[in-house]
Amino acid sequence: NDELTLEYRVLSYGHNQYLMIVRDITQLKQLEQIRKDFVANVSHELRTPLTVLQGYLEVMEPEQLPQAAIWQKAHTVMLEQTKRMDALVQQLLTLSRIEAATKVQFDEKVDVPAMLAMLEQEAQSLNREKQHQIEFLIEAGLCINGITDELRSAFSNLITNAIKYTPPGGHIKVSWQRQHHKAVFSVQDNGDGIAPQHVKRLTERFYRVDQARTRATGGTGLGLAIVKHVLQRHNSKLMIFSEPKHGSTFSFSLPLEPVREAKTPKLKIKT
Ligand code: ADP
Repeated sequence: NDELTLEYRVLSYGHNQYLMIVRDITQLKQLEQIRKDFVANVSHELRTPLTVLQGYLEVMEPEQLPQAAIWQKAHTVMLEQTKRMDALVQQLLTLSRIEAATKVQFDEKVDVPAMLAMLEQEAQSLNREKQHQIEFLIEAGLCINGITDELRSAFSNLITNAIKYTPPGGHIKVSWQRQHHKAVFSVQDNGDGIAPQHVKRLTERFYRVDQARTRATGGTGLGLAIVKHVLQRHNSKLMIFSEPKHGSTFSFSLPLEPVREAKTPKLKIKT
């Protein structure tokens, strides 16, 4: 909303003379709210799996070994919940690392085709259950300057999401192609699609279209927030086109700059 939050201070100086200072603290308040929401979200996300773990541990008396069937179920659930907490903590660390480092040095040449070849293998193993048809269209030799680890996490998040959020037997197209002076990455799926009111909020931390369903898929709700920050640091922006019931396309472009050689400073000697 467009409401302003103003802070007033009235100072008296001299006889019948006053000075009123008005400060616009709208942005300060908004940041404070974002910080509060973030802490509340993290606590909630960690509390849910912890409650499940605690529940199982409480029924397992140390003196008596639980029955095999119960133990098996408990073991599966506890492992699942521990993995979920681990994924959340990992992603929180990634996000805070990316946010903290503001200065980007584009001196790393990123071999995107090689990176995408690895991600294709990972995607195929993740795809075993869903049996999607996944197509990779990668332009050979199309490399860029950027930060390898960060870009890998951006590519990987978008590919993984397409696999997760497309019903079994879907069609996913991943492409990395030159377009004029840019390289364009896109992931297209024919999944459920996303309604416009959700699209604009997807890159917010912990925002999920369907809380219950996406939590069940093992998502942390941080993937697209990470992608957004990685792209911001590479002077790029995530584009999302989605049509409910037809599918979504997530894409971004990166400039094709020649790799800069490390320069040795030239010394000018004045005589
Ligand atoms: P998560 O860890 O929950 O997957 P993300 O930040 O990666 O978190 O994504 C946020 C939400 O956006 C997801 O929970 C899901 O509802 C929605 N979403 C992301 N990618 C897709 C997609 N390809 N198709 C449909 N919905 C998607």
